[in-house]
Amino acid sequence: MGLTNQSTGASVLDSELSIECTTADDRIIALAGNPNVGKSTVFNSLTGLNQHTGNWPGKTVTNAQGKYRHKDNNFIIVDLPGTYSLMSNSAEEEVARNFVCFGKPHATIVVADATCLERNLNLVLQTLEITDNVVVCVNLIDEAKRKKINIDYTELSARLGVPVVPTSARSNKGLKELMDIVYDVANKHIVTKPINITYGDTIEKAIKMLQPKIWELVDGKINNRWVALKLLDGDTTLLKSLDKYLGFNLMDNADLVELLDKAKNFLADNGIPPDQLRDKIVSSLINIAEEISSHTVT
Ligand code: GDP
Repeated sequence: MGLTNQSTGASVLDSELSIECTTADDRIIALAGNPNVGKSTVFNSLTGLNQHTGNWPGKTVTNAQGKYRHKDNNFIIVDLPGTYSLMSNSAEEEVARNFVCFGKPHATIVVADATCLERNLNLVLQTLEITDNVVVCVNLIDEAKRKKINIDYTELSARLGVPVVPTSARSNKGLKELMDIVYDVANKHIVTKPINITYGDTIEKAIKMLQPKIWELVDGKINNRWVALKLLDGDTTLLKSLDKYLGFNLMDNADLVELLDKAKNFLADNGIPPDQLRDKIVSSLINIAEEISSHTVT
């Protein structure tokens, strides 16, 4: 049976990415990571020759998909472009963000570089804001060991609230463990509890002004806190994609428009004009990454 993306929930993506599922038990996995962290090496090790590449429809961004079987599931793994962020600063970031958000993967693996974990945590945190079903793969642990960098993976996992798997993909170390954990997360045998990312009282109050209305409108289909933050941030690319996903324009709702105006005014009145919100968000994420790193990396 050739199920297509229709059955994955990704059909409304502007990219209309086609995913060929063969059974209803197939699990779809997104593979994210900064550039140069060994993401392709992880992808190749997991899928071997069972992979094909193309472009994301409508974009000049390469898309690779591959398959592997583990226990009683087929896994279809979608290799997202290597990005530092999911803030849609580029076509690559938009593609990655949209797939994690609207492609509804059963799990998202974020590959991070063990030799510069703190910088890589930024993407991990941004992914955790969108989805709970995350597995962090800390790769290049051989390089970290060589540089005498020690990482407390148990503490890292406890602080992030999601499983962390150390790997050395080039020598196939840790990949069996990665497959086991991805299996458990994708099948909800492990229930994750991602870290609460917060941005200080003023921004949190503005988010809360929008959240109930967004919840009502998106009907729990998407993380309402994250959508509120993006609306405050004026992320127009997300609005366009949301439009297609939901089948209606959020901004057609007069109540929400009014609330958004109020929330933006509240931010401005409290010292955060629209052009400064993104910087505040980014610097909060950097601070959280630094805090986590200071307790887990020596
Ligand atoms: P990507 O840009 O994230 O897809 O990274 P690649 O998979 O292309 O890997 C970048 C480089 O790191 C390549 O030279 C890989 O052989 C190397 N690499 C990948 N994984 C490991 C690892 O676990 N240890 C070491 N030492 N090198 C690795």
